[in-house]
Amino acid sequence: MPVLVMKFGGTSVATLDRIRRAAKRVGVEVAKGYDVIVIVSAMSGKTNELVGWVNETSPLYDAREYDAVVSSGENVTAGLMALTLQEMDVPARSWQGWQVPVRTTSAHSAARIEEIPTDNILTKFAEGMKVAVVAGFQGVSPEGRITTLGRGGSDTTAVAFAAAFDAERCDIYTDVDGVYTTDPRVSAKARKLDRIAFEEMLELASLGAKVLQTRSVELAMRYKVKLRVLSSFEEQSDDAGTLVCDEEDIMESNVVAGVAFSRDEAKMTLVSVADRPGIAASIFTALSDGGVNVDMIVQNISEEGRTDMTWSCPTDQVVRAQKAVAEAKAQGAINFHEVIADTDVAKVSVVGIGMRSHTGVAAKMFQVLSAEGINIKVITTSEIKISVLIDRKYMELAVQALHDAFELEKAA
Ligand code: ADP
Ligand code: ASP
Ligand code: MG
Repeated sequence: MPVLVMKFGGTSVATLDRIRRAAKRVGVEVAKGYDVIVIVSAMSGKTNELVGWVNETSPLYDAREYDAVVSSGENVTAGLMALTLQEMDVPARSWQGWQVPVRTTSAHSAARIEEIPTDNILTKFAEGMKVAVVAGFQGVSPEGRITTLGRGGSDTTAVAFAAAFDAERCDIYTDVDGVYTTDPRVSAKARKLDRIAFEEMLELASLGAKVLQTRSVELAMRYKVKLRVLSSFEEQSDDAGTLVCDEEDIMESNVVAGVAFSRDEAKMTLVSVADRPGIAASIFTALSDGGVNVDMIVQNISEEGRTDMTWSCPTDQVVRAQKAVAEAKAQGAINFHEVIADTDVAKVSVVGIGMRSHTGVAAKMFQVLSAEGINIKVITTSEIKISVLIDRKYMELAVQALHDAFELEKAA
């Protein structure tokens, strides 16, 4: 039997009623002759609540126990989904990550899937089971501890299962009916894309479009998984939603495919560091050893042998970054006047593979922001994206203005 992977996100399993609705969609695919692997998220809001409980109990928590707690939301929905399917006379059972087992690295709270043995589930399919419901977001480390894959990680579970089982398709059911030119919650003019290239989706995801976890797009690209994003709230035709596919499979596309944003950014500056060879290495080694994920970096021009070093990192890593540079200073590895943290910033990015062959996108982006009176604090570019750091209060305005200026509401 061909295998299909169907993933239901938090809002799609938020109530028993919605689980029933999702189960009906699964039943439709079973009736078509598929063996279905259903990946479920926790009910919406549940993971946030669990993370909150961990933080309240132990601010500098043991990441292994964080994972033990935070992974539990998915266990509930997996069991409920299996029960719902059984009530509909569809042969189904649930699996937690460790039961498959979804083998991951030991990087707790950000583990990577290393292997998914298929024999266990395939044997059940051979015995007549029609649906394997698997708790998303979780796995088991070589040490036998429960791991999680980072927020939004059920998308990655789904794509990894699709790759391991050579599924015909991986359908990601969510609360929007596809991938849009920007988050439809921020711009009413956002347009649903029928197709988007892997590279563009990868950039949009890593720059904040949380509709797919970045790692899921990477895996889909590497293992050539046919990945589709669609709504669990509407009746779906076979070509509904957005197909994430190879660049070659897209006929026409705009120079800019989409606008992404991330609220969760902080800008930090080390004021007056000695401008000598090795200084960047010392600062960023200290930050990396301290577990800080640095994104953008700028170094000022130096004056009298001293300069300022600025970087951005996730807001919740500011304290860690402060600790890391203070320790490096105490050990004499770096020297600076003070460290400034600005947590009222956001990152806005435009993404498009058309930028490889078109010039002027950056200039236009900066003109648009300037016309709105928005000051740019940091800029970074790559072949297919331009990102700026701006005051957070202008984030929505910037997204809308860029969406308008690049005419993203119109198809190419
Ligand atoms: P799920 O719980 O189903 O995994 P998520 O909340 O993780 O859903 O992701 C879906 C959300 O992603 C949408 O509700 C939307 O607000 C947001 N989003 C951000 N950028 C985009 C985009 N470019 N296209 C579609 N949705 C987007
Ligand atoms: N429940 C997890 C989260 O909220 C994983 C997911 O939904 O993809 O991050
Ligand atoms: Mg998600």
